[in-house]
Amino acid sequence: MPNPLASHRLGNDPLSATARREVAVGRLTVAAVSDGVLVMSPAMVGSPEYPTGAHDELAARYGEARLPLGCFVLRGEQTILIDAGIGPVDHAGRGTLVGGNLLGQLAALGIAPADIDVVALSHLHGDHVGTLGDVQTGQPVFPSASILVGRDDWTYFVEQDQAQMPLPRYVRQALFEHDRRGQVRLLDGDVDIVPGLRRIATPGHTPGHSVYLVADEGQRLYLAGDAVHTPQQLAHPDWAVPFDVNPAEAREVREWLAAEAVRAGCVGVLGCHFPHLLPVSI
Ligand SMILES: [Zn+2]
Repeated sequence: MPNPLASHRLGNDPLSATARREVAVGRLTVAAVSDGVLVMSPAMVGSPEYPTGAHDELAARYGEARLPLGCFVLRGEQTILIDAGIGPVDHAGRGTLVGGNLLGQLAALGIAPADIDVVALSHLHGDHVGTLGDVQTGQPVFPSASILVGRDDWTYFVEQDQAQMPLPRYVRQALFEHDRRGQVRLLDGDVDIVPGLRRIATPGHTPGHSVYLVADEGQRLYLAGDAVHTPQQLAHPDWAVPFDVNPAEAREVREWLAAEAVRAGCVGVLGCHFPHLLPVSI
């Protein structure tokens, strides 16, 4: 499958499509890479009084408001990938949500698809799961990986299949194939994944949304998925996206993250779509 970012005007944009960095957390290192680019619509993140708040702040700082499609790698005894971008597609053909960089970014880290032991998902929106399945065949792209996902997201997106933003067909096929092989683990509540990595149940944006906490030697990094879409939401937890499944719960999660961001030992909060994939602490 050709990479649609190869001919995209933002295909080499270090703020979004090619964002990458390494974040130290105690003795651990999280590699953050981007699968692609999300060009923000003006009213994507804000309040009823200021619906274009995040867009306007980002545009004032960076010019065009665009965001990465963040994915994260934690290497230890197992190689763990957290979230999987949107994959090599131009969603809706408009050039505003385009991916395809993840496998190349992993290769640059010396990681082949078969090396991934675990894919831990923040939630089942298409821009976080797209590389799981081959676009043409629906076969798993990470054949050895166990797929970890909140049980309530599996129920909502896979079993009920009535989400406002449904799973792409090839991702459904890949998830079913992983499930058939016994490679799907559904997560309930707060649970340790491996030493140093903990899943925190954070329903709101989606019913089974997960924040992943990386912690070592008193330092903590919150990989926030889409609990916050932009850094501005940590200063304005009332700023929401219109597609939170449960807006009240989503706001509680943002208020909790904003409080965590100022606590001692917090390396930062890092949402999947933060510009430059830069963690934010306040
Ligand atoms: Zn997202």
